[in-house]
Parts: sequence; C-alpha cells; structure tokens
Amino acid sequence: MRVTTAFKRLVRLDDVNVTDVEFLATMVIVTVALRRRRLVCAHCGFKTRWRYDTRPVESRWRHLDLGTWQLELRASLRRLRCPTHGVVVEAVPFARPGANLTRDLDDLLAWLATRMDKSSVARLCRVSWRTVGRACERVVATELDPDRLDGLFRIGVDEISWRKHHKYLTLVVDHDRGKVIWGAKGKDAVTLDAFFDELGPERSAQITAVSLDLGPAFLKSVRAEGHAPQAIVCADPFHLVKLVSEALDEVRRELWNELRRLPDDRWARDFKGSRWALLKNPEDLTDAQAAQLGRIRRGRGGIWRAYEMKEQFRAILAGDLTRDETAVLLDRWCTRALRSRLAPFVKCARTMRERRDLILNAVEHGISNGRVEGLNTKVRLLIRRAYGFHSADAALALVMLAAGPIELKLPHERPARKAAA
Ligand SMILES: [Zn+2]
Repeated sequence: MRVTTAFKRLVRLDDVNVTDVEFLATMVIVTVALRRRRLVCAHCGFKTRWRYDTRPVESRWRHLDLGTWQLELRASLRRLRCPTHGVVVEAVPFARPGANLTRDLDDLLAWLATRMDKSSVARLCRVSWRTVGRACERVVATELDPDRLDGLFRIGVDEISWRKHHKYLTLVVDHDRGKVIWGAKGKDAVTLDAFFDELGPERSAQITAVSLDLGPAFLKSVRAEGHAPQAIVCADPFHLVKLVSEALDEVRRELWNELRRLPDDRWARDFKGSRWALLKNPEDLTDAQAAQLGRIRRGRGGIWRAYEMKEQFRAILAGDLTRDETAVLLDRWCTRALRSRLAPFVKCARTMRERRDLILNAVEHGISNGRVEGLNTKVRLLIRRAYGFHSADAALALVMLAAGPIELKLPHERPARKAAA
C-alpha cells in the first residue's frame, strides 16, 4: 500500500485524496485535495463551477492526533463568488466554516469540555482553552436542535454571571424537558425581549407558566404585549432555597466568629470547615462531613435550628405537595423563622411572605425545586469552567453543550459515510 493511500484511510475523511505526507519533529503534515469539481460556499451551500480567480488559498487544519504525533491537514483551496456572501473561500467537507480545526477535533474538544476540567483538556489535546471555546461555539452553531423553541409551556428565566465584573448571561430553561433552550449576553428586559422575538407571538401565547428570580427586568418583558402576559408568574424555587442557604451561612459565620474569640480554641477547632457539612444536601455529604453535622446536632443551639429550617424549606419545595399543603407548611415555616431570634432567618421569612403567592404558583404549576435544582447546579458548575473563555458566546456554548438540546457524538461514533477507498 502506498503511503498516501494508508493515510487516506487513517485520517478517515470523506471526499478528499491524500497527495502528500511529510514528517516533522512532532507533527505529520498530510496534504489533501478535494475530490469534487464544484465550489461550495461555506456559509450557504451555494454551488458553482466557476472559480473567482486562479490564486490558491493555502489552508491548514489541526486534526485528531495520530498516536503522539500531531496531525495537520493542508490544502490549497479556490475562491468563488457567492451571490449572497460575495467572494469567499470554498467550503471543505471536513471542517466547519472559518475553523482551523477539523470537525472531528471540534467535536472531541466540545465533548471533553463538558466533562473535564480546563487544564486537563488543554494538556491532553495540546490546545489553548480559548481554542476549546471557539470549538464549542462552532459545534453549537451547527448541531443545536433547530426545533428547540417548539412546544414550550413551562419555562424559567435565570441570570448567571459568566465572568467577574458583572458579565451576565440570561438563560431560558424548558422545565418540561429539563434543558437550557436559549441564552444571550446581558440580563435586562431587552435581553429577554430578544427571546420572545425569536419565539414569535404564536409560540409565546402557548406559555402557561414562567418562573423568575423576580428582579423587575424580566417581569416587564414577560408581561409585554405579544410576549407571554397570559402566563402565571412563579417564584424560581432554586433562588428561594439559595436565599435560605445564605441565611444559614450567615448564622454559621456569626457563630464561627464568636467561637474564635473564645480563650479555649477547642470549640472553634471542632466547628472549623463546617460550611459544606451545613450547606450541602445531606445525601451528598462525605463521612467526615456527616460526622461533623452529627456533632452540630448534639450541640443543638441556633446553628442547628438554622440547619433544620434550611432542610425543612427544601422539603416544602421538593415537589410532592399540593398548593394547599404547601401553603400550610410555608406559613408554619415563616412563623417559626420569625420567632427564631436568628436575624438572617427573620429577614428571609419576611421575603417569603411577600412572595407567598408566587411560591404557591410555582408549586401549583409543577415547578418544584426538585425539578430545577439539578440543572441549575450543573449550569453553575460549568460556568465556572467557562471563566477563561474569550467571550460570552463561548461561555453560553459550553452551557448549551452540556445542558441544551444537543446530542454530541464523538468522531468514532459517527458512521463513516463511505468505505475508505
Ligand atoms: Zn453563500
């Protein structure tokens, strides 16, 4: 078998011939030629026989590594004139438009980025984290389910910071499918207006319930004519539980500061590092954290009461109660919190009373914390990984890849279109 034939099989790319193979110190360079005669616009698929000029455009792409060798594809491309996009370089079947990585490598990086930490991906694949961000953007642009905005009934709107210094993304979640289905940079009414514009009046009119974290901006957009003024507005249970968790954390901090001032440091030593024991869901505790929680329980006191109230609150919104049952338990919870002599919980209870109807709306429409917590936690974990990305679009792409309606395939899971010749 000739070397070029062997490499044609190895790189597993459709519709190209390998014309040359060259070995450098750590890299193999495989030169390919497109087999098709016609030129295709990379943006719209427009086809023509006519070249725009005879000047070749030398192009290169990183492909999947070959053992420890990095593999680079090279090709000399032609230019065409597309009636819509003007003079452009022709598309190649093995890479997305504008990419300097092949489609296979894009897909691999996107898959890894949702499952592996930043430095591991960069080291394993020998690419920068920003390159990973661009690959994620390209994969989402081509692979996202185009019907994702159809059949929406219960949605949630959420804002999340994707970088320090108040850089925000607005995300729209489909509560029924448990997926993030839309996102954009920013966090004001205009940002959400863009979602309703894309959705259009017909699909907007089908929406029955919207959960919000109850900043005024989103509410204004939901209520606007042509958007979803018919929808019942619900409090987002994830944010309510977060509020209670923050109150618990405040109680813990106050106690910690008191203990540290004591002459005997035994108490402080025992309490040290209790933050996660208190804040994590009980089913996620490590053995050591569970033991520490046990000690806090035996000690009783304000911190234990605060912990109990956090867990009770979570249980009330877990999703197995009716509106009326929830109302009774919520009122009882508020009374207990108001009498707790723990200032953060008194404040919390006042907020819950103000939002009582919206909380009950959420329960009635089946938007429970049990339903939203997993997705929210996942998104928040991912977004921390996206901090090193260059743009909001890349951060959003990572969220969509991991929590959106998209099915990621690895290169070897895709059937080869043709048997290698
Ligand atoms: Zn075009």
